[in-house]
Amino acid sequence: MFDVLDAWLRLSAERIREAAPDLTALDQAIGDGDHGTNMDRGFGAIVAQLDAGTPEAEGDRALAGTVLKTAGRTLISTVGGAAGPLYGTAFVRGGNAITGAPPDLPPGVVLLSALEAAIGGIAGLGKATTGEKTMLDALVPAFRAGQDARDTGGDLGAIVRAMADAADAGAASTIPMLATKGRASYLGERSVGHQDPGATSSALLLRSLADVVAAG
Ligand code: ADP
Ligand code: MG
Repeated sequence: MFDVLDAWLRLSAERIREAAPDLTALDQAIGDGDHGTNMDRGFGAIVAQLDAGTPEAEGDRALAGTVLKTAGRTLISTVGGAAGPLYGTAFVRGGNAITGAPPDLPPGVVLLSALEAAIGGIAGLGKATTGEKTMLDALVPAFRAGQDARDTGGDLGAIVRAMADAADAGAASTIPMLATKGRASYLGERSVGHQDPGATSSALLLRSLADVVAAG
């Protein structure tokens, strides 16, 4: 599990760097134009930390949980804005879910519990729910699609593919939405017609995960 996590964080960092101008442009339309640079700074710091070496941990899953929690704290301290604490809390909660998962759970189920915990962290801290034009509009449909894939017997690959597809659709679904949380909500009706930057970066993260698992 640590190998997948490590590859996911590194691929995500690369793709965020490539997508930073686009994420920033989306945030220029309905926010303050810092989402791309914020995320790039945070994921750059995560990769630097991965390069510096792995912490001591009792086994693969404990290591994965610890590394994800550490990455979350890095996001909280380096990303800034709304997204830093939100993603950071999501990663810390996800890491805790991985650490606390019973050892015999299949990886797809551990992942679902990590995403569920991450969503709970974002919803709690952001006091947000779906339909408000935020990252939750990518992540919640992704979780549901992942659950459906699992319920129909899908393995880890099928689960992450379903998550990534639903997250892309979820990010696109934010275009007609009226923002009621975060900076974009200050724009009122003028927030309609633009895709939410945070939902877009969330979809990017889940697509990276699906690609890492597929490359297995
Ligand atoms: P800031 O808005 O402080 O400049 P960013 O630009 O980095 O921070 O991130 C903006 C993104 O954060 C939004 O596109 C949205 O997805 C997400 N966001 C903002 N506020 C909330 C909230 N209360 N709950 C959930 N997500 C939020
Ligand atoms: Mg911003």
